[in-house]
Amino acid sequence: MLIISAPSGSGKSTLARRLIETDSQLDFSTSVTTRAPRRGDEEGKSYRFVSEEDFLAMRDRNELLEWARVFGNYYGTSKDVLDSARRRGHDLLLDIDVQGAASLMKRLPEAVTVFILPPSPGELEYRLRNRSSDSNEVIEHRLREAAQEVANYGDYNYVLINDQVDETAEQLRSILVSERCRRERRTGRPETVEQLRNIRIAERCKQERMAERIEPIVESFQAGTRI
Ligand code: ADP
Ligand code: 5GP
Repeated sequence: MLIISAPSGSGKSTLARRLIETDSQLDFSTSVTTRAPRRGDEEGKSYRFVSEEDFLAMRDRNELLEWARVFGNYYGTSKDVLDSARRRGHDLLLDIDVQGAASLMKRLPEAVTVFILPPSPGELEYRLRNRSSDSNEVIEHRLREAAQEVANYGDYNYVLINDQVDETAEQLRSILVSERCRRERRTGRPETVEQLRNIRIAERCKQERMAERIEPIVESFQAGTRI
């Protein structure tokens, strides 16, 4: 299980889409949400859009692996999604918020977690506005929440700064390859040159190796500066 979290607008859907498109052994965990569809959202693909009543009924029937209230809407991962990936022998990619990730880290400690940061608060604002799919009020809300979200990066195994999207997509792919190699190392099969390259890239993205580069970005979020 590969979990990615990031402040809204950092580019995690873009990165998730790219990774899924290039990996036939990785399923995307389509969440259930009560938020209204956005331009470009496809029912059953980006999300399953349901009413609040239906969402709460699913939660009460214990059908959700995790759920959280984010920006005034409910979001959750249905247990079916994980069961179906397991049946197919596939890995599962989850794009979930920091609360949902924290609850899964406790329940499924083998999950690999990646936090994605935008290069600066100013760039995050630019991306949110440029996406032009949310109202000004929603964008302001998402920017305010970002400072709290980025403070959680230390709980994740890996941290990526999504500056150049091609580079970040390669780093994310390297993390997946590297973690699969780690899992399969027990079989004693030697790694290929390409796998070793991915392992080296992933190693550089480990949270503890990134701390020095991350701290100034986190501080600028906390200072509320939009540089
Ligand atoms: P999230 O899923 O984190 O809310 P999106 O993937 O929807 O974010 O990305 C927000 C906007 O930023 C989109 O318009 C996307 O095309 C753009 N974007 C994503 N990554 C980058 C990047 N590295 N540089 C510039 N723009 C980006
Ligand atoms: P958006 O409305 O921009 O698609 O997503 C808003 C936030 O909800 C993002 O941080 C996203 O990761 C999170 N999110 C999406 N699906 C889920 C889910 O199933 N569970 C949790 N906890 N968060 C989710």
